[in-house]
Amino acid sequence: MPKRSVIVVGGGWAGLAAAVQCCELGLAVTLLETAPQLGGRARSLADGGLDNGQHILIGAYQETLRLMQRVGVSEAQAFLRQPLVLHYSDGPRLQLPAGWSPSLALLAGLLWAQHWPWRTRISLLRTALSWRLRGFQCPSDWTVQQLCQGMDSLAWSEFVAPLCVAALNTPADRASAQVFLRVLRDALLTVRGGSDLLLPKVSLADLLPNPATRWLQVQGAQLHTRTRVLALSRHAADKAWVAETSQGPFEADGLILACSSSEAAALLHTLCPQWGEECAALSFEPIVTVYLERPGAQLPAPMLALHEGPDAPAQFLFDLGQIGHKPGLFSAVVSGASGWMEDGLNHCAQAVVLQLHRQLGWPLDVRVVQSICEKRATFACTPQLQRPSGQPGPKGLAVAGDYIQGPYPATLEGAVRSGLSAARHLHAELST
Ligand SMILES: Cc1cc2nc3c(=O)[nH]c(=O)nc-3n(C[C@H](O)[C@H](O)[C@H](O)COP(=O)(O)OP(=O)(O)OC[C@H]3O[C@@H](n4cnc5c(N)ncnc54)[C@H](O)[C@@H]3O)c2cc1C
Repeated sequence: MPKRSVIVVGGGWAGLAAAVQCCELGLAVTLLETAPQLGGRARSLADGGLDNGQHILIGAYQETLRLMQRVGVSEAQAFLRQPLVLHYSDGPRLQLPAGWSPSLALLAGLLWAQHWPWRTRISLLRTALSWRLRGFQCPSDWTVQQLCQGMDSLAWSEFVAPLCVAALNTPADRASAQVFLRVLRDALLTVRGGSDLLLPKVSLADLLPNPATRWLQVQGAQLHTRTRVLALSRHAADKAWVAETSQGPFEADGLILACSSSEAAALLHTLCPQWGEECAALSFEPIVTVYLERPGAQLPAPMLALHEGPDAPAQFLFDLGQIGHKPGLFSAVVSGASGWMEDGLNHCAQAVVLQLHRQLGWPLDVRVVQSICEKRATFACTPQLQRPSGQPGPKGLAVAGDYIQGPYPATLEGAVRSGLSAARHLHAELST
């Protein structure tokens, strides 16, 4: 049988995962990406060597780690792996011991969390135990705030609320409790080290897009950047898919759409109008990353939690020098940043500088290297959200992306899982 062919539209992490999996399943792959580089939202910027935003992984993101390994990335070289630690400027709150099973580590970490009074530790222990006893399940319409009603206020403000906005990029009063519990369950119960933090020591480009490009080229895949897909159609005679692009038409037996939800909905407008309506129901949350330079400065930990508040936008500050990047380079992260962006990016960056001055005693004239706002960083992960299916209908078509139905919020792991499953689905269809 001649080799079946597939076009992958979009070279973000979902598209790259799909392309790698298709190659491994023996399909001939053509990947079309509109931008000059691969990586999508998790990409490195062309100028200045910075990333499009600070990213972290957790040990439970197994499919992403496996994919990276498949294309030749060594986890030890790519990441600083450390047990979950929540470090504020006045000391660590929670520090899980290394090498323990996650549940026992959490128990020990909470018992030893000396910066918290006993009532805070007991409140967190009681809450964690009740979630565990209920199998990390709750009513689908609950927010994280509802889930934590009655919790000690310090446990809430210094642990659950920052963890929620970091994991779901949605403030706890609007975030889905069910998805939050699913991430916690996987972090605590699936694999040893599932709750570990993995901080990238290399650029986002070297984490996956560059090694995946080399791997795909060796497999004979065709990669076209600066090639935007403008329209899709099918040949009446042989049912082949045709992608009209800015560089001319491409044809293949199957098609994986791994572009943004809005672009996928537009491309499938006539073929699957109802599927497009589900995409239209998604709303999005921005993330702001402010890169700062302060030569000679060092934080007490590579990742420092900050106190967020009405005049303090950032939840975390990363000391990139401690993670193998340029010494004296820092990134402050403002997740769930929609409120802050109402007054513009500059205003938000200046508020971060003021926050670092107040909370860490940094000088007000610290150099802001670059501020980046990704307006549609992730979908807002709210209760009972109906996410679009990865199989919108027509044969030989699958859709991938972090917004596709799945257990996770918009994350690299969600994107990679959807890419792998789109490739497997398409391979099965093309084999019959
Ligand atoms: C600032 C920031 C911080 C984040 N932090 C984390 C984190 O710490 N941990 C984590 O797990 N996740 C994080 N995320 C989320 C993560 O980056 C995304 O979930 C993931 O990158 C989504 O990948 P994707 O492939 O689904 O989509 P995308 O990355 O959006 O990829 C879609 C691709 O399709 C291309 N495209 C669009 N239209 C067309 C077309 N017509 N033709 C051809 N190509 C097209 C786009 O250019 C893009 O490259 C963060 C995101 C941001 C923005």
